[in-house]
Amino acid sequence: MARVLFVTIPAEGHVNPTLGLVKQLIENGEEVVYMCTEEYRERLAQTGAEYRAYHLDEHLFRELGLNPTEFKHPLNFTEFILRGIIEPHIPEILKLTENDSFDYVIFDSLFCWGGDILGKRFGVPTFCSVTNLAFTEPLSNIVEVFDTGELDIEALRDRVTKAAQNVANICNVDMPVIEDITRQYGQYKIVFTSREFQPDVEKLDDSYIFIGPSITPRPDAPSFPFEQLRSQYDKVVYISMGSILNKDVEFYKFCFQAFQDVPAQFVLSCGKDTDLEPIADYIPPHFIIEPYVPQLEVLQQSNAFVTHAGMNSTSEGLYYGVPLVMIPLSSDQPIVAKQVEKLGAGILLDKNELTPELLKSALLQVLNDTSFREHAEQIGDSFRNAGGYKEAANRIMSLFSKV
Ligand code: UDP
Repeated sequence: MARVLFVTIPAEGHVNPTLGLVKQLIENGEEVVYMCTEEYRERLAQTGAEYRAYHLDEHLFRELGLNPTEFKHPLNFTEFILRGIIEPHIPEILKLTENDSFDYVIFDSLFCWGGDILGKRFGVPTFCSVTNLAFTEPLSNIVEVFDTGELDIEALRDRVTKAAQNVANICNVDMPVIEDITRQYGQYKIVFTSREFQPDVEKLDDSYIFIGPSITPRPDAPSFPFEQLRSQYDKVVYISMGSILNKDVEFYKFCFQAFQDVPAQFVLSCGKDTDLEPIADYIPPHFIIEPYVPQLEVLQQSNAFVTHAGMNSTSEGLYYGVPLVMIPLSSDQPIVAKQVEKLGAGILLDKNELTPELLKSALLQVLNDTSFREHAEQIGDSFRNAGGYKEAANRIMSLFSKV
């Protein structure tokens, strides 16, 4: 039996995929200490892991990283990783584990250099939990460099260098070159998608292990009026822009307008903190709107999914063979959406050129042209064939025993 340190960041899309893996590792006899913020304690309780919460400086995390579309330079991403994730959390995690020893560490890919520090501190192998598509080039290169006119790059570099120096001092490690901070993904990478769905998969070596999305029951999923889903219409369309960038009520109003005459039952997840008051008068009768929806169950009954193409929502939709209409908003969503479109499982729309007519037309196409569903089902098959969390646990344990 090995003792495992598992560290993630407090975001639905980064924690949810790890649940099955943690549970499986424990069922296979490993002892897992799982660290994230207090918010996720209950969700992890079902796995049998020992939970330790680190404190999140929510303000800093959100201020630095909420909307990657506002990153103007690759160093903005490095600053988010360093000042929003590594600097506030790695020293605290080290403190919370100072009397522990572990046999290997699994860390979320957004910890980057932080995961490497943990591996060195315990002198053990590291596995990276990759809940996005794996990047075939350094993540910081993917940030689009556009108008840097008002950006003080020297000041940015200075902040990044100071933060890195501070982390190196506190953690008693050497300071890496700045470009390397976001390039460190551990010895092995557990990627929660299939080789078939990964773009440029041939560029990745054997340290990348594709296990498919990890879709497990969520006992804390909220209740939902399932009896209403097919009470009036044959078709169900689910709309969700994820759990972070979901407060744009104008977009929801846009959907009401686009879909007002489409004969289907619509389900809209509007976000826990979204104020619908300003658009309350526009809600059509064939819309069920909830702040948070039991997404896995609703998808299993859906004929189409209008999504921001977040990695998890996309994987969940395709896992259940649901074709997608995708309006990517930020970070890796455009890359994910392009891949879905390339594989014929959905239609990609540009949010800057969106009109109600285009949105409606895309939805009708994915509902009526059966090839979209067929392709979605093929990708879903590749996800299931990748083996999931059982395969991940077996691979990690066999690799660890060889390291
Ligand atoms: N989710 C959910 N119900 C909702 C909205 C979101 O269960 O009403 C879950 C969804 O199943 C997925 C995650 O939240 O696992 C969203 O992750 P994704 O990567 O799609 O988007 P993000 O929230 O990171 O933008």
